Amino acid sequence: MNVNFLQKKVAFKNRVILRVDTFNKKHKRLSFLGMLYAVCAITLYNLMLYLYVNTKRFTALACILLFFTLSSSFSYPAMTLNISFDSDLEAVEDNSEATAVLSQEEVAESEAELVADQTVDSQVLEEADEVVNPDAAEIDDMASVSEILSSDAVSLDDSFVPLSESASKEDISFSSKDWKLVLVNKQHPIPDDYEFTLGTISDNMKCDERVITPLLDMLKAARADGVNLIVCSPYRDLGRQTMLFSNKVDRYMDGGLSYMEAYNLASQAVTVPGSSEHQIGLAVDIITDGYTSLDEGFGDTAAGKWLSANSMRYGFILRYPKGKEHITSIEYEPWHFRYVGQDAATVITENGLCLEEFWNKFVD
Ligand code: ZN
Repeated sequence: MNVNFLQKKVAFKNRVILRVDTFNKKHKRLSFLGMLYAVCAITLYNLMLYLYVNTKRFTALACILLFFTLSSSFSYPAMTLNISFDSDLEAVEDNSEATAVLSQEEVAESEAELVADQTVDSQVLEEADEVVNPDAAEIDDMASVSEILSSDAVSLDDSFVPLSESASKEDISFSSKDWKLVLVNKQHPIPDDYEFTLGTISDNMKCDERVITPLLDMLKAARADGVNLIVCSPYRDLGRQTMLFSNKVDRYMDGGLSYMEAYNLASQAVTVPGSSEHQIGLAVDIITDGYTSLDEGFGDTAAGKWLSANSMRYGFILRYPKGKEHITSIEYEPWHFRYVGQDAATVITENGLCLEEFWNKFVD
């Protein structure tokens, strides 16, 4: 504040004091009013003077505040769900066409036919798949594949020969070109040119046709050991995966989260569309009678224990093991099994690896 303003301030103060002094002498009883007037008048004057002197500074500040207010309210709609999901919806349509083409090429294997007339409420099962939240994991009204296999048409004599114990590990090498080993996760989405043929397990259950035989062999072996395994939602197209994922995101957003927060949380519970092994027909979710929830508890059931001990003999691995969540980015899923072939499954299981670690160590 320059000298000029300082002088004005002092002069005003003196004037007020002089006036109050005169007033107080005339009306001694009302002197408190005079004091009050003096305090208010001087404070107000100083304030006005301060604002006047700093006009430019306050104008600049107001402009900055205005700018931020306007820009943040305009940018908000660009962060919402609908805009970024438009492209996904187009992709879903494209994919469903591709699925239709694949369906025509389905190969009905003799064993697959055995289970064709059985029904599984896959709608319900798929809904529950990979959702850790137990409220989504209520499954009812289904036929187990084990029951299907126990029908007269199935002969247990066509016994499956597991990986020969004699095969030495030095003989085994793993190629990154091997379809059985394809690595699919958030960092490695399904390659655009990835091709496979869908085979039918039953009416609405499909998977890569090359996986059907080892899968059924595994079910038979489990049944022989007194364990009833129930397969659910093996193959799932992009549309189905996208719907599961966006439902989860919506649910989190309804809970008050932003889109980014909801997306991040959803991606831990449901595989991001385009990075699910169910989309390439190499993954199956397995439950058992008496325990039909897709949650951690399945791992403690007889079926869960049988699978973790024996699935490798049929080429399947527990894809998202406990303790590897920091690598897989997916929570422990004792029900989700992935076909990788017997050799890789044996190496992975015996060394306690997840598929990502196996790729790092063994795949050329
Ligand atoms: Zn799964």
